Amino acid sequence: MSSDANTPVLRNCIRLPLAEDELLEVTAKAKDYAIMHGAAMRSKTAFSPDSLNFAPFVLVPSSFPRKEFEKAVALQPIINRLMHNVAHDEEFITTTLAETIKVDEFTANLFNIYRKVLAHGFTQKTSLGMLRSDLMLESGCPELSPRVLRTAAGEDGGQDAGTAVGQRAGVVVAVGAAAGTGSKEKELQQEQEQKQHREVQLGRATKERERRANGVHSAYCCWKQVEINTIASGFGHLGPASKTIQRFVLSEMGHADKLHNMPDNNALAGLCDGMVKAWDIYAKPKAVILFIIEDVSYNICDQRFHEFYIRETYPHIKVLRRTLTEVHREGKLGQSKELLLGSQEVAVIYFRAGYEPGHYHSQAEWDARYLMETSLAIKCPSIHYHLAGTKKVQQALAQPAVLERFINDPEEIKAVGKIFTGLYSLDDNEAGNASYEMALRTPERFVLKPQREGGGNNVYGVDIPDALKRMSRVERSAWILMDLIHPPLTKGYMVRPGGDMPPQIVDMVSELGIFGVVIGDAEHIVHNYQAGHMLRTKLSTANEGGVAAGLGALDSPYLIDSDDEDEQK
Ligand code: ADP
Ligand code: MG
Repeated sequence: MSSDANTPVLRNCIRLPLAEDELLEVTAKAKDYAIMHGAAMRSKTAFSPDSLNFAPFVLVPSSFPRKEFEKAVALQPIINRLMHNVAHDEEFITTTLAETIKVDEFTANLFNIYRKVLAHGFTQKTSLGMLRSDLMLESGCPELSPRVLRTAAGEDGGQDAGTAVGQRAGVVVAVGAAAGTGSKEKELQQEQEQKQHREVQLGRATKERERRANGVHSAYCCWKQVEINTIASGFGHLGPASKTIQRFVLSEMGHADKLHNMPDNNALAGLCDGMVKAWDIYAKPKAVILFIIEDVSYNICDQRFHEFYIRETYPHIKVLRRTLTEVHREGKLGQSKELLLGSQEVAVIYFRAGYEPGHYHSQAEWDARYLMETSLAIKCPSIHYHLAGTKKVQQALAQPAVLERFINDPEEIKAVGKIFTGLYSLDDNEAGNASYEMALRTPERFVLKPQREGGGNNVYGVDIPDALKRMSRVERSAWILMDLIHPPLTKGYMVRPGGDMPPQIVDMVSELGIFGVVIGDAEHIVHNYQAGHMLRTKLSTANEGGVAAGLGALDSPYLIDSDDEDEQK
């Protein structure tokens, strides 16, 4: 949907198509490998709690430009801090959501919990953020392309803003890590590392400039954020598992020499360690970590692997799984407002459910959410983090000058500002009504989004006018309008349970998710780090690519320095 006949294509990591006998053999092997390494899900059509299907996956990793990947990774601690500051800005959240909660019942229910908690004061001041910033390469902004290449090459004596900030973020984290040791040696080492990094960047940029001089055009110019998730940010296991399958496939096909271009991915450890750091802060050796789950978990591996990682790495920490309904039935607050499930005290609550109306069957589930919110347990997310992750807040953050409220450093403001594509309010005011008219005039440029998570809720392109016309002026403020991003295509084999054997080569587009962990309260951030990544790939003709929803497939990035290398080898 977001591509057309002119959409550029990124080079593949290996030459395709594969010979049919080789393709059949390696695909069959990869399917078994996927199931046997937990890259799997419960079937929606033939559900059984006793069996798993492999999760759909792309056979060979999809290319992704190294420079853009590194920029996204380097930016994540800054995005973490931004979201932490947004979540703690009562006035901003309240004003931003004021119109939306008049018409969106779900957001209004969340907001009511927030209001009640604010009125009584937060029992637990520390929040655990496990975020995922989702992004797509943009191929449709020609004016940016030469500039990015030129500045990255240092022609104007400057650096690419993202790289500069990335290095700064690196320094912040490194200095934080070195705090207390105060060693000059470490500083020297950091300087050395940064110098090497700059040299590598320069070398790459020079290569790109040469390609341009030879008339080779880039298939992308930058990346744009699709959304930021603050609740149930999934694929902490399936992200790294995708790499495991594709590494196996490349090795089986004799391409082990290419594996070094698949970046490390420690998402599972990074996220679980985040939960354990929060558990440490709670500081009660017998308290447990609670996962809030759906009534039926199809994406079971991605939850259980978190649980098993914690149990295996930190066997003294117990993990419980409960639905909102069960928490309502079993949960109560103790004398110091500790959350008790039976006799077990809960230190940390990790919401893998609770992000959509369907998870709240009745008032009982809302009461359970409120009970947890008022408890001493550290929540991931706490209610203000959940609200900070709404589409409406993302839209507000993309407006000029708003970032200045949350970020001090001008370079960081510039770098974060660049990741937003056009995001427009549809509130019933002059600006909102102008966006409405614009959407009616050129709907093909946009996607229309409500305040929902989990996929399948957006309205795309030509369907937008009808959808908008069915809404009253006031109802529109439950939605935001966003420029469509046009990612470049990749070509490859998508392997699905029950799919064609051998699979056909298809046109695909990818969405990269970068995980971040941030822990702190309104005054201090005590932990802030980037925590791995995930790549989801969908058919280029599909609007959305949820893997659990059945349209997307597991993938992992194959980092390329330019569009024209590797494939020929
Ligand atoms: P959800 O919270 O339901 O995941 P998203 O904003 O992530 O909502 O949208 C769902 C999917 O729709 C994304 O994963 C992506 O495939 C597609 N999508 C969303 N926004 C855009 C956009 N601006 N341009 C192109 N595709 C988009
Ligand atoms: Mg999404």
